[in-house]
Amino acid sequence: MQTSAHVRFEKRDEFHDELQRRIAAYFEERGLSRFGGIRLLTKSVMIGLWLVASYLLLVFSPVPLWGAALLAASLGAAMAAVGFNITHDANHDSFSRNKWVNLVMSHTMDLIGGSSYVWRIKHNVIHHTYTNIAGLDDDINLYPWGRLAPGQRRLKLHRIQTFYIWPLYGMLGIKWHFDDVLTAITGKVSGQKIRRPDGMELACLIIGKALFFGWALVLPMVAGHAWWAVLLTYLFTEFVMGVVMSLTFQLAHCVEEAQFFPTPLTADEGKFQSWARHQIETTVDFAPRNFFLTWYMGGLNYQIEHHLFPRISHIHYPKIAPIVRQVSAEFGVRYTAHRSFVRALFSHVRWLHRMGRPEAA
Ligand SMILES: [Zn+2]
Repeated sequence: MQTSAHVRFEKRDEFHDELQRRIAAYFEERGLSRFGGIRLLTKSVMIGLWLVASYLLLVFSPVPLWGAALLAASLGAAMAAVGFNITHDANHDSFSRNKWVNLVMSHTMDLIGGSSYVWRIKHNVIHHTYTNIAGLDDDINLYPWGRLAPGQRRLKLHRIQTFYIWPLYGMLGIKWHFDDVLTAITGKVSGQKIRRPDGMELACLIIGKALFFGWALVLPMVAGHAWWAVLLTYLFTEFVMGVVMSLTFQLAHCVEEAQFFPTPLTADEGKFQSWARHQIETTVDFAPRNFFLTWYMGGLNYQIEHHLFPRISHIHYPKIAPIVRQVSAEFGVRYTAHRSFVRALFSHVRWLHRMGRPEAA
């Protein structure tokens, strides 16, 4: 695991060992593979068909304005589903046992407008290691527009962030386009130095962007649609994808029940006791019994399990969650789950409100 100068984790501890042992036993006793396998492949085909059908109908069939809006929303939701279910697992190497399959599927990120190279650093390394540590975790960095963590300086405009933040969430996909190019040029993510993409990585980033803007903007114009209609549809589709993705991420970490940390850390020179404890206490599950959300969000409503076991495919999270909950209870680690999506959403709204209030500064 990479570590920052500010933060060091104890990699092994009794709690983490016991979690690993019990989860390993679950898979061994049932003779199960930790990867997505045929179940995830079937799901991926369904999501791929959903995306392609939405796109083809939107671009190549005569539809009224309301039909186009519905299809664009459907396309945005399908793109988010690709990100949650295919891209996310593949970039964590949990989609398939075969590393080449993971590599190929990880580039679905480039096809939906992001960069698999930047994502792996920003998400796999930075977010998964420094979860909810202000100044390091890019997922809680909306500064200066939003204040999501106590470690961030409060500005006057944050007082009303609860009202204006939602359209910003819709900008996520468009922000990726700019961030990816900036990262390739500056070699920085969220102020942290990273290795610049080179060779094949740079080629994939450039080809990925060309392919994405090719299908999102160029092909619809070649098919005869007016440039302004294409641009508006692109913005709306991105907006839907951005809101769905941002909310899914925020409801797992930016809620009242999650813990946050400032940097530089003062206690014990920034050394956390336990990496596993940190992951659980900075993350909150939601809607664990909601079959549709669990299917659609690629298990990201079970983010505690995902943060502990990112190399296990999301299709297993509902089954391993009770084990994680049980071991946490045995070791006195706080494990939190919101019963429903709405409860998690309200908690996020209250958190935004609290972070914007003057006394929270
Ligand atoms: Zn992840």
